[in-house]
Amino acid sequence: SDDYKLVSKKWKVKPTSIDLGDGIRIEDGSMAIIAGPCSIESEEQIARVIQHLKENNIKMMRGGVFKPRSSPYAFRGLGLDGLKWWYEQAKAAGIKIVTEVMQVSQIEEMVDYVDIFQVGARNTQNFNLLDELGKVDKAVMIKRGISGTIEELLQSAEYVFSGGNEKIILCERGIRTYERASRNTLDLNAVPILKSKSHLPVIVDPSHGIGIREFVPQMALAGVMSGADGIIYEAHENPEKAYSDGQQTLNFQQSALLAAQIRKTFALR
Ligand code: PEP
Ligand code: MN
Repeated sequence: SDDYKLVSKKWKVKPTSIDLGDGIRIEDGSMAIIAGPCSIESEEQIARVIQHLKENNIKMMRGGVFKPRSSPYAFRGLGLDGLKWWYEQAKAAGIKIVTEVMQVSQIEEMVDYVDIFQVGARNTQNFNLLDELGKVDKAVMIKRGISGTIEELLQSAEYVFSGGNEKIILCERGIRTYERASRNTLDLNAVPILKSKSHLPVIVDPSHGIGIREFVPQMALAGVMSGADGIIYEAHENPEKAYSDGQQTLNFQQSALLAAQIRKTFALR
């Protein structure tokens, strides 16, 4: 296609490896596990999540401090203060931070505290944001748009790559279809297709993909078998009390079990 070039395998045959330091990588054939709450809620919550991640040898933590909520009255995140508390604790624990950036003005204030900038599904085609992320020296994880095609996701990655930042991770998180029995339709077809078209690593988000807690683990494992290079899922000490997305969030016991199952399933691949 003429619509993207640099992110294609035709341009670069060698798979792109995202090196986050401390021996932590997301790359072709890796099984990165990224877990954590939908929203960062308090210093105490951060501490409990980090403890859980350490107990399960999970090296990357997700969490939103700037939250794109469908309703303006919903919890919209702790902002930069929350990110700074998180950074202090994550750094001490050797855990990497994955968090969403929603607008250009936030990049500069966040950049020193972030390991992977997440571009949310509602911002996949925010081309100004993508342009600016092309100039930063941090990894960028781009989620597939709410109703985005695979090609549009690759074009979004092309914005970042062509701006000079090659540290890009693609994320399948489900798309909006006519089906209402699940929150989104997790399109696992996208994984082998993206991997065949692009040299960039691909991860799967089963939490937003199905939106139903009890089915998240099996869709995560399906994601592993689809050829993903990592899984990102939501986990919280008490999902019923989570400030956002509790209905699709695993408790720590479920998360521990899933992390073990992901590793076992990956070994079978
Ligand atoms: C999230 O990761 O919590 C999130 C808002 O994801 P998405 O952009 O995929 O809806
Ligand atoms: Mn969420």
